[in-house]
Amino acid sequence: RRIGYAIVGLGSYATRQIMPNFAGCEHARLVALVSGTPAKLDQYGAQYGIAATHRYSYADFDRIRDNPDIDVVYVVLPNSMHAEYSIRAAQAGKHVMCEKPMAVSVAECEAMIAACRKAGTKLMIGYRSRFEPYNRLAIELARSGHVGPTRLITAEHGFPARPGQWRLDRPLSGGGSLMDIGIYSLNAARYLTGEDPVSVSAVETTDRSDPRFKTVEDRIGFLLRFPSGIVANCISSYSSSHNGYRVIGTQGWIDMEPATPYEGQRMSIRKDGVTTPRTLPAAAKNQFAGQLDHMAECIVSGTTPIVPGEEGLADMRVIEAIYRSAAERREVVIRA
Ligand code: NAD
Repeated sequence: RRIGYAIVGLGSYATRQIMPNFAGCEHARLVALVSGTPAKLDQYGAQYGIAATHRYSYADFDRIRDNPDIDVVYVVLPNSMHAEYSIRAAQAGKHVMCEKPMAVSVAECEAMIAACRKAGTKLMIGYRSRFEPYNRLAIELARSGHVGPTRLITAEHGFPARPGQWRLDRPLSGGGSLMDIGIYSLNAARYLTGEDPVSVSAVETTDRSDPRFKTVEDRIGFLLRFPSGIVANCISSYSSSHNGYRVIGTQGWIDMEPATPYEGQRMSIRKDGVTTPRTLPAAAKNQFAGQLDHMAECIVSGTTPIVPGEEGLADMRVIEAIYRSAAERREVVIRA
């Protein structure tokens, strides 16, 4: 049988990107919904054929324990709610898929990992780019030295934040652009090198008179040093549009722009003085279905997801160091 998912939080990402893509899955299916809004449970319940017995409110949430159709709980709530719902899902004996950022602190990430370990359930973070063919190719090319050993990575992610949303409210978001979109620059620098940074220097620029940025940061730049000597220069912004990275080796570069959107990645490669676009055939399964099926296959085969809780924790360790570096205006060493 296919692995059954319950979606927790019927917001924009869950309803527009995740739920429609179960249709492209081979091993996963949508079986339950959790929301605080009865009208959404009715609307999406009807649209996806989810029986009333498989629709839950937040107050009801822990009753998922008694529903054997639910194998995985996918947490798609505001960031500061990730830890609580992931831990409650594990305590109900369910596997956990949790959106990025994994949580809002290293301590919360560690608690989530501990809860899943204790319950004997799997924990995977929604790093969808790891299931996207261009990003997979970029990883392979970068790590195999296609343009020579990597010396430098540049990565930029940002968008102009719309006012009046939880993303701009620190108690719900845990932070500003870095938590939400800059994490793509950080995660890419880590997956393109296959290394964890040893130190970071960060500079934050936020106009606190802008009503959007009363409690969270706008722009934050960070320079990561990796053990092999690779340096990554990263940008995160809530007031300008960016989506790209470039891996620069001794013989050229691998460029991705856009690098991590929902679709439409573009790659070009410069090697020995010649620049060529690189196109891949259309994938049979998109990154969303790929991600949902991966967790399902890991559950069936008893293997560990390629983006487990430890991956979210590794990013959060760096995020905390980036914030500390910006606040203290100095390079911060990152403990493993
Ligand atoms: P959203 O605002 O569209 O949805 C959030 C949902 O949480 C809403 O349905 C809202 O009703 C519900 N909610 C429950 N309690 C809430 C509270 N106290 N305050 C506010 N909302 C509450 O947000 P979204 O864009 O869907 O983001 C949800 C999560 O998904 C975030 O963690 C975000 O980082 C992540 N996300 C990931 C991607 C990706 O590409 N992987 C893209 C978008 C969002």
